[in-house]
Amino acid sequence: MKLRKVTAASAAVLALALSATACGGDSKDEGSGSGSGGGGKIKIGIKYDQPGLGLKEPDGSFSGFDVDVATYVAKQLGYKPDQIEFVETKSADRENALARGDVKIIAATYSINDERKKKVDFAGPYLLAHQDLLVKKDSKISQATDLNGEKLCSVTGSTSAQNVHDDFAPKAQLKQYGGYSECIAGLQSGAVDAVTTDDSILAGFAAQDKYKGQFKLAGLKLSNENYGIGVKKGDTATLNKVNAALEKMVSDGSWQKAVDKNFGPAGYKNEPAPKVGVIVK
Ligand code: GLU
Repeated sequence: MKLRKVTAASAAVLALALSATACGGDSKDEGSGSGSGGGGKIKIGIKYDQPGLGLKEPDGSFSGFDVDVATYVAKQLGYKPDQIEFVETKSADRENALARGDVKIIAATYSINDERKKKVDFAGPYLLAHQDLLVKKDSKISQATDLNGEKLCSVTGSTSAQNVHDDFAPKAQLKQYGGYSECIAGLQSGAVDAVTTDDSILAGFAAQDKYKGQFKLAGLKLSNENYGIGVKKGDTATLNKVNAALEKMVSDGSWQKAVDKNFGPAGYKNEPAPKVGVIVK
């Protein structure tokens, strides 16, 4: 222990050196993000179980708004679709996946907030969603105050679960699962009385053939969820390129096309395209 007298100044130098290594040390596999994808791949974190946003289809392909946004952004970074490797990043794993370098960017219904900004950087926002409730068609639950004592499902590591605790339903029996598909299965079986997360996600589930006519959204705007693209903390070069790509996606009409294609079938009425750098509190 005697040896561990590190002065504040030398600690700062060490921290700088470490972060410089982290920034410059991209593996070849992820590509440099310099627009020269070459033969390399880019790993992008998405959700695998959220219809309309990020879904792994039975044939192994991927669909959803986040997938389309990610594919557009990757193209601007110099990667063709076949150079993208999609990796599942569940809600609770996102910060760590970026910190470890498992993925270069994350497009996974990832809300920008101050807590997360301590660990990762966010490009965007590229979508504004709102927290809502999904219940069975015949449920009496129609607002947050009806949740007292009821079994409410959300996902570990999500803002949705956090908001229940901190804000609108502290007296609900909160069950936290690993993914929203598990919550929806619980709602169908009666294991839980309601599911809470972003309206964009809930609408996608409700519109699936196997659930058609069984559920309803309460239509509450319980929070503002500004979706950002997660980037490793300090990777300013990637951050700036992703922001430029998102701006282009809106201005050339591709954003609207992706909205129509992915949210149209679910009848999800999305908010207009946000402005990059402007967070709705
Ligand atoms: N957008 C919210 C969040 O980032 C809820 C959806 C999710 O868990 O991905 O936590």
